[in-house]
Amino acid sequence: MDTMTYIKETKELWQEKYANEPEFLQALTEFVDSIAPVLEEHPEYIENNILQLLAIPERIITFRVPWVDDNHRVHVNTGYRVQFNSTLGPYKGGLRFHPTVNQSILKFLGFEQIFKNALTSLPIGGGKGGSDFDPKGKSDHEIMRFCQSFMTELQKYIGPNMDIPAGDIGVGGREVGYLFGQYKRLRGFENGTITGKPLGFGGSLARTQATGYGAVYFIQEMLQTKDEELADKRVLVSGAGNVATYAVEKLQELGAIVVSVSDSNGFIIDENGIDVALLKDVKENRRERLTVYANEKASAKYFEGSVWNHDIQADLALPCATQNEVDENGAEQLVANGVRFISEGANMPLTAEATEYLLAHDVYIGPAKAANAGGVAVSALEMSQNSQRLSWDFDAVDTQLHEIMVDIYQAASNAAQKYGYGDNLIKGANIAAFIKIADAMVMQGIV
Ligand code: GLU
Repeated sequence: MDTMTYIKETKELWQEKYANEPEFLQALTEFVDSIAPVLEEHPEYIENNILQLLAIPERIITFRVPWVDDNHRVHVNTGYRVQFNSTLGPYKGGLRFHPTVNQSILKFLGFEQIFKNALTSLPIGGGKGGSDFDPKGKSDHEIMRFCQSFMTELQKYIGPNMDIPAGDIGVGGREVGYLFGQYKRLRGFENGTITGKPLGFGGSLARTQATGYGAVYFIQEMLQTKDEELADKRVLVSGAGNVATYAVEKLQELGAIVVSVSDSNGFIIDENGIDVALLKDVKENRRERLTVYANEKASAKYFEGSVWNHDIQADLALPCATQNEVDENGAEQLVANGVRFISEGANMPLTAEATEYLLAHDVYIGPAKAANAGGVAVSALEMSQNSQRLSWDFDAVDTQLHEIMVDIYQAASNAAQKYGYGDNLIKGANIAAFIKIADAMVMQGIV
């Protein structure tokens, strides 16, 4: 079958099959639109029906998560683990606790994770999991009981050589601690079974910072290619969680001025540059909303709505909140604001229409699979340390993270050029990752 017919037929099949999984279909479509020239060159991929093999997870586990709140009421949530692809290593990817979690969201995230993990060049396959549980407003004990119930079921399917979860939205060090504690009670002390752990029992230095720092190291490479540098650039950042916080920290350390952060209700504009110490105190220690930041900082203004609809001059943008946070209106506003570089800290933060608009207006985009791979890369380094029963110092991990981000940039940029996509890193990242996975799948044989 010729390449174009294969792609056309596969897309038609997906459109029908995944009509009820819009985020997953979006991720599949964005990917498949990149790889025609690679399929052209590798007839064995088409012979092995590689697109269908890649699109269907090896396994999806769905389970019931009952838990009791502080008033002794019983609640029941749904838990999931999508074990998407183990070609390059055991399934690896985070857990997301958020009311929007469903199979479509976790399949899109798991699919992206396969490629992201391949780009790190570390031996990890792709997976993702989570629950529609909403951690907002829950007491510490409620979070603990939920995590224990979730892990009571999940532990049957994971392990250091099988599937290694970590955090994502709604799952940070506290939750990972409770999840690991329950795993340990049931299965024994195997700390390589979950990453993003607190430092005392096998966590890695620089893991907390890794996704945010990595997204900044990535945009540094993008800037360098265009003979520009980070110093004195004005930056819009969205989100106020782990990714955003440490992106802001690194951006400011390198001389940029970050003027915004956001949460699900609104955003802060601080013309003096975001005060990272206050941000950490409000979000990490006090677990409060950004309105608290605004109340305590004279230079900050709080606005309701999306930061991406705000009229404000900036050079760079790092969307670090969630999927599809920038739509076409947001993209138009970004171009009007003067933004020319984007590094995606969140997974798939741009809608397909937003991406198209931004590319048509010469905005240079660092796609999530590449730009935010630093988090999972350091998770893999945490696994290495756990296997060695050693912990490396901060600089050792940070230096490796930096090297990995530079290598990912090079791989994406070279693949884009080689396959005729110029400096389009979205295409380049898809291609560089796809070739690694597809080659290994063919070599391992189809079963
Ligand atoms: N949730 C993160 C991501 O989207 C990290 C996953 C991990 O460390 O396994 O890549």
